[in-house]
Amino acid sequence: MNLKDTGKTKEELKELYNTYFYETFKRFDFIADKGEGSYIIAEDGKEYLDFMAGIAVNSTGHCNERVAKAIAEQCQTMIHASNYCYTVPQVMLAELICKNIGMEKIYFQNSGAEANEAMIKLARKYGKDNFGPNRYKIVTASNSFHGRTLATLAATGQPGTAIQNNYDPFIPGFTYAEYNNLESFAAACDEDTIAVMVEPVQGEGGVIPATKEFLQGLRKLCDEKNMLLLFDEVQTGWGRTGSLMAYMDFGVKPDCVSMAKAMGGGMPIGAMCTSSKLALTFGPGAHGSTYAGNPVACAASYAQISEIIEENLSENSLKMGEYLRGLLAKLPCVKEVRGKGLMIGVEFTKDISNDVKYNAADEGLLITAVRPAVIRLVPPLNITESDCDKAFDILNNVVTKLV
Ligand SMILES: *Cc1c(COP(=O)(O)O)cnc(C)c1O
Repeated sequence: MNLKDTGKTKEELKELYNTYFYETFKRFDFIADKGEGSYIIAEDGKEYLDFMAGIAVNSTGHCNERVAKAIAEQCQTMIHASNYCYTVPQVMLAELICKNIGMEKIYFQNSGAEANEAMIKLARKYGKDNFGPNRYKIVTASNSFHGRTLATLAATGQPGTAIQNNYDPFIPGFTYAEYNNLESFAAACDEDTIAVMVEPVQGEGGVIPATKEFLQGLRKLCDEKNMLLLFDEVQTGWGRTGSLMAYMDFGVKPDCVSMAKAMGGGMPIGAMCTSSKLALTFGPGAHGSTYAGNPVACAASYAQISEIIEENLSENSLKMGEYLRGLLAKLPCVKEVRGKGLMIGVEFTKDISNDVKYNAADEGLLITAVRPAVIRLVPPLNITESDCDKAFDILNNVVTKLV
């Protein structure tokens, strides 16, 4: 369905939004009518270089041929059967994922928040099953983001922000410690703590990579205190940071990892994977979802992950990430360029990120603003040097005019 099919004008469509929609997002002023590779094409034919990739989702580009074909074919054979049935895409995907990231068990969900919710539930049940009724606390990081359901909001360390205001009381059992500060985490853990949960690179928090010492230190801390190490790789997973999972490059294996965003190529799917140590924690009736592991989403994910692996997109992410960071460092008013692979944050010396975002969109480049002074770039992983050059030229113009 695109604008032409409806017979409406763009203004009429926007009016319908105003009438019917809760506007929890401030939208760009165009209709995303068509996606093609690294570009979104608007209703008037204008092309936008998409360096937000649907919030780090379209890692193989828009409407990737292999993903689109897998979705179309699956839609003609089995769209939904429920988890009471064996279905082929689900188990093929389970094997593909577990084998490639060194995990033993998988549990499918429909989104990142749900994957984290499952991870939190698993950790709590593991704690109580094995160590008694008080062993359920989880320590997460300040400035983290783990999702918007009530439990994942409680895990999210952003008190006093629009994300959390007036949704309290939150479910108990979460405390926050300072990211990249091992002593802070060690101090926050007590005898009731069952798990530590962190993003290997904080995304919404401003694109802050963990240090190797921090993650390795957390692994050691968890081993010493019989706690679980939980990684939220909803944003970092599947090649984004230069390895299939960010933890593979840090050389730290978590007990459980969550994933979503890029894994489905645009279809809503999430998952958590665990080591065999947790295999017995979820038994019949312990958790469930009507749609999770839906055949169409799984077929799309199988195609997406196969494409990422076979086309070596992790490697391209590393290479292009380095190239792009080199360019971005030349922008005016830059305080720091940081990130890993193609998960990049640019911090300016002034609070201009929102202006940069909307002015760049006017010039044909899409990015996000994650902090008042920080923009985030998470382009498709198969971008080229010339895509990067183009993005830099637009940003350079925009920032120069602003400052
Ligand atoms: C986006 C994100 C989530 C939430 O995923 P949804 O699919 O939006 O529910 C959780 N954790 C991290 C690190 C994310 O980036």
